[in-house]
Amino acid sequence: MANQFDALLRRLSLKVTPKRLAILEILAAEPIYLTPEEVWTRMKRKSTRAGLPTVYRNLEELSACGILIKIVHPDRRLYYYFCPNDHHHHHFVCISCRKVEDLNFCGLDSIDREVRKSLKGAVVSHLMQVYGRCKECLAG
Ligand SMILES: [Zn+2]
Ligand SMILES: [Zn+2]
Ligand SMILES: [Zn+2]
Repeated sequence: MANQFDALLRRLSLKVTPKRLAILEILAAEPIYLTPEEVWTRMKRKSTRAGLPTVYRNLEELSACGILIKIVHPDRRLYYYFCPNDHHHHHFVCISCRKVEDLNFCGLDSIDREVRKSLKGAVVSHLMQVYGRCKECLAG
């Protein structure tokens, strides 16, 4: 796992630091999104020393270069998530249990068509996160 993150950081020309590796390991260990405070608490448990502001900064840097996904949650708190899949896809975010699932549906074709038709423009990129309740939460 550590080597995989090492390679990932190097591929993006990012410095490999113990803190960054710890953050990635923590987020990759669970299929849910975490707050910076929760990442920080887990780091302390693994005895990786870092102040909360450092954790915030590293999470921001890793999401700015696309390694981490920032979850924009209706509760307006900040969350981060690590997805190992690097093909273009979207995420289904459970607002009850925080689980994130890959959604391999992308409406880009129809969005692009609509933008060309109504706005006479062309789409370069797009972001989409879908919120809801997962199968388990609906059953519970
Ligand atoms: Zn759920
Ligand atoms: Zn994903
Ligand atoms: Zn898409």
